[in-house]
Amino acid sequence: MSHDAHAAARAPSKNCLNCGARASKRFRRVHGDQDDRAHRCPECDCWARLHAGSAAGRDVG
Ligand SMILES: [Zn+2]
Repeated sequence: MSHDAHAAARAPSKNCLNCGARASKRFRRVHGDQDDRAHRCPECDCWARLHAGSAAGRDVG
């Protein structure tokens, strides 16, 4: 997991900020925050939570 966190820190704008997985531009624009950054992605969260705002950095519980 530390390796993934390191990858996320190196490429914060194109990768999921939580797990470091690659997040598509479309995903980031649709589900990400106002800067098109994905705080969560389908690799590390479920779609119900992503749609609730987890990908935009909101705490959805
Ligand atoms: Zn992720």
